[in-house]
Parts: sequence; C-alpha cells; structure tokens
Amino acid sequence: MNDFRLARSLGVGALYASTSLLASAMEIEIDYTLDTNGFFNQAGSKEAMRAVCDYFEGILADDLARIDQAQWPGNSWIARVRNPATGNVDTFPGKVIPANTYILYAGGRNLNGAGQGGQNFYSASGSGPNSQQWFDLLQSRGEPGALANPPTDAGPWGGSITFSTSRTWNFSQTASVGGGRSDFITIALHEVCHALGMGTEDSWNTYVNGASFTGPKSTASYGGNVPLQSGGRHWRDDGMCTSSTATGYSPSNPLNVLSRAVGQFGVTEGQNQIALLDPVSCRVGSKLKVMTALEVAGLDDVGWEIKTGIITPLPELAISVNQDNGAVTLSWLANPDRVYQVQESGTLQDWVDLGNPVSLRSGPVNFPDGDPPIGRNFYRLHVDPPSSSDVAFALANRSSYYLTVETEPNDVSDCDICADGH
Ligand SMILES: [Zn+2]
Repeated sequence: MNDFRLARSLGVGALYASTSLLASAMEIEIDYTLDTNGFFNQAGSKEAMRAVCDYFEGILADDLARIDQAQWPGNSWIARVRNPATGNVDTFPGKVIPANTYILYAGGRNLNGAGQGGQNFYSASGSGPNSQQWFDLLQSRGEPGALANPPTDAGPWGGSITFSTSRTWNFSQTASVGGGRSDFITIALHEVCHALGMGTEDSWNTYVNGASFTGPKSTASYGGNVPLQSGGRHWRDDGMCTSSTATGYSPSNPLNVLSRAVGQFGVTEGQNQIALLDPVSCRVGSKLKVMTALEVAGLDDVGWEIKTGIITPLPELAISVNQDNGAVTLSWLANPDRVYQVQESGTLQDWVDLGNPVSLRSGPVNFPDGDPPIGRNFYRLHVDPPSSSDVAFALANRSSYYLTVETEPNDVSDCDICADGH
C-alpha cells in the first residue's frame, strides 16, 4: 500500500463557475527535475513515459482552470510535491499551473514494489472577499463536482510517480520480454491511474462501499458493483501473482476482475485481461498488461471527462436480456464453419451445458435461457475452431448485462517477475 493520499484541509465552499464553455485537450506535463537518482537516464525510459502520458491525453478532455496567485491579491498557496527520489514532500510556494495542464513529477528510488503513484497536494492561505473563490479554485480548478458533498469530480493540479531503482525494466512499448524485467508501460499506466485519482481521489472514495466500488460508469462496464481489494484502492486481487502461486492468469479463477483491453501498446482491442488496477501485476505471455474498459470507466467515475469513441462496441458478440419475463437471451453473430456451445455457471468454476451446440450457420443467433437463476449468472460461449476471440463470457444479473471477449493466453506459466506489488 504505497499509494499516497493527498491531505486537504480546505472546507467545501460555494461552487466555482468555470468561464470556459468548451472542454480542451488536457496536457500532462512530465517534470523530471526531481529525478535525482537518474532513473530516467535509462535508454527508452522517457519515450515510454511520454507514450503513457500521450495515451491519457488522448482519452481525457477536461478543462482545468489556471492557478496563478498573482491574479489573486491577498491569497497564496504552496504546491506540495511527493519527491520521487526521496519520498519526502518538497514545497513550491506560488507555483503557476497553466490552464488545462496537469504536472506529473516522475523519478525513481528503491521501492519494495515496482512503482508508486498518487496526487500531489497543497496548502493555502487567503484573505479578503475573494478568498473562498481562491480556495475553491485550488480544490476544483473549475470542476463544480469537486466541491459537491460527496464529491463527484476532481480538479487536481498534479501528481508524482515513482519507479523502483532496484528492478530491471523493460521499456518496450509493444511487448513483454521476460528475463526478469518489469514492464514499464504496465506499471506506468497503473500508477498514472492512481495519480489521476483512482484509489486516491475524494471522488473515488464517494463510491467505495466496503469491498465494492459502486461508481455508475464502472458498474455499467463490469455488470455490477466492482469487487475491491481491502483498503479500496485497487480492484480485487486475483491472487495469481504471488511467489508461491505464480501462475499469472487463470481464465476461470472466480477472483478475476475481468475486462477487455482498450487497443494500445501492441494489445488488440477487446483482448480479455485482468483489469489493470489489480494490485499485483505479473507477466502473462508476451503481451503487455494495459488499460481496460474498466479503468476508463473508473476514471470517468472519478470525474474525468472521457472523449467519445474510446471504447468501441464489441465486434462480434452481444447479449440481450428480456426483462419482461426474466428470461435471458444470448445473441451473437455467428460465423460459418464454427461450432458454438453455450454454458452457464453461478461460480465460474462448474460449467453446465445449455442445450445443443449451434453449428454450421452464419448470421445472428439468438439463444434463450428461459429459466435463469436468481441473481448473478455467468454464461460462456465456446467457439470452435479457436479464433482471436474463441471464448466469450457473459454475466446476467436479471435486469443488467455484461459481456466481454475472452482470448485464452497460450503461455500462462511464464511469470518470472511476479509480485510486482504497487
Ligand atoms: Zn496500485
């Protein structure tokens, strides 16, 4: 649990009205001035860090207000920064934060886990008639939901991200290479999620209810409340990346929090994956572990505005639920020369065949389950011969639905950099 929380001491005040009407492209400015241990002197490291931030810039569309105390006479602030090289807090009085800019301090030091990420914070003082507006600006940067109670948005000025200097790193932007190397792209994507508020922001905590995350975007993506690891800062650990059980990934593991990859960094759109905010990452084959639809939904719940078109519809499979009589109908677009078998399970462990296999036809197939169990029930669609999407999972929850595409990994036992706790 190395993620750090920001500590705010400012009260909730009146809404701060943004004067901008159009959301602008947000810029993530990477600041290496605190990288005094020279982590980013390694070949390919800054290019990979930039690529990760380019990815987030490509999906986020928030309009964040400028912070410049010179425009607020009688008021002041001190930016407080988690120094990646020391772990201590450095202070930058009167720092100017340009509009639509998020400043990410990046560096390295010796960590137990692979990486660490979180927001940066501040202290402030004010006097005069504008002081409450000044405080609101610092807390929200013009995002009204950040001032709501409970908060539903965030307007951070920046964060810090740290990578362990005691590991050997793979800076490839397209593949995991093994050989004991930790995948920088994977860890950086995960830690930037923390820096942007997942597991750390007040608006994230708005939706933490015990061991469940109830954010509306995330639950729509997952098909129900998303299971959380204790502490509420990660999705539930699938438990497959410990040094004693380093099997990496088991498709039928009931602890999996599965979603589908957003196409990036050499991974195909729709590839089934343990969601990136699992607390422990380990290597599964040659693919990098990347952002999934569930992390994009989580950022949306934190309050980030997500550009449209980031999550594309599933190309081949869909599920519909008849809510009138409680029946579930699985629908998919069948290809010729394939055999499909539908199974169901309440536990993801014992699968029961539903009817006869559907074969030798193309076009839309509607497969009814006229008597689904009460509550959560998983469906599995096997396709033979295998293809890039040879198994589909679906979860029916009476009146909601969830579907993801499962691709069986070929080499799940290659897990030589397990226990990347972070
Ligand atoms: Zn983490």
